[in-house]
Amino acid sequence: MISFVIPCYNEENNVKPMYDLVLDRCKDIKDKFEIIFINDGSKDKTIDNLREIVNSTRENVRVIDFSRNFGKESAIFAGLSNAKGDYVALIDGDLQQDPKYVVDAVKFLEENKYFDCVTYYQETRKEGKLISFFKRTFYKVINKMSDCEFVENASDFRILRRNMVDSIVGMEEYFRFSKGIFSWVGFHSHNLPYDVKDRNSGTTKWGFKKLLKYAFDGIIAFTTVPLKLATYTGIISFVISLICIIGVIIEKLCFGIEVPGYATIIILLLLLGGLQLSSLGILGEYLGRTYIETKKRPIFIAREILDSKEK
Ligand code: UDP
Ligand code: MG
Repeated sequence: MISFVIPCYNEENNVKPMYDLVLDRCKDIKDKFEIIFINDGSKDKTIDNLREIVNSTRENVRVIDFSRNFGKESAIFAGLSNAKGDYVALIDGDLQQDPKYVVDAVKFLEENKYFDCVTYYQETRKEGKLISFFKRTFYKVINKMSDCEFVENASDFRILRRNMVDSIVGMEEYFRFSKGIFSWVGFHSHNLPYDVKDRNSGTTKWGFKKLLKYAFDGIIAFTTVPLKLATYTGIISFVISLICIIGVIIEKLCFGIEVPGYATIIILLLLLGGLQLSSLGILGEYLGRTYIETKKRPIFIAREILDSKEK
């Protein structure tokens, strides 16, 4: 069986076309399939339209209605933990990703038992130069810092085999960064290009600010290198200050210090103050996340689960 996991946040005009498209693309396959929609606290009529689909469908459809917006990462987790298929496809609800690729990927995975996952990446990105630049920089930075490999341009558009799904669901961390989790669990991934279409309706939920926060969260979640950076800069400035101290003492003993070094004092004060504060900040970021993680809060809360079979 194939499970389609479709996170939806304010996609009122997209859910029905998406549902129709999945049905159309699956009409010739032998496998059974199920569709799991996650309504991630939409503020529009998404849930009404999903309810209509569940009430009128003859297919296997489940809708998980979140109690509020928990974010796409939580929606993916909810979908994965509810999916029963041997293959699980993560696909957006805005028709940017054609379900025909899912059918191709499942065929590929059936024929190539070595691979556990098909990851689709965008060959040509349809976005501004600045955003592209920041994304490239992000991948460079995180790949330098982290032990797992992050494939540039790899999207969340993935088709996973059951073994990989079980491992991902087994990771119950609250701060979820899917790109990192996919790479951390390992397995054999096959990367394929896909053509990204324009959004069917509505706008993207990922503004620059949200992307920046996402990148930051990813770095904090998957590496502790920033903490080490704080230590290293501390050690380096300590060594430099030792040299300075020796210099000053020699100067004092040999020549006597006549002019107080106002500029030097101010510069050192500001520099060290800045370093200390930023190191504290980095520490705080990790500590804050540890604090929230220890509360063991659920990754999502479902208000209601609708099943087409339970009509
Ligand atoms: N999405 C979600 N919760 C959110 C933000 C987005 O479930 O808080 C869903 C959204 O409905 C869509 C998918 O995640 O199906 C991708 O979002 P979007 O199209 O805005 O991102 P983009 O394609 O621009 O990267
Ligand atoms: Mg989109």
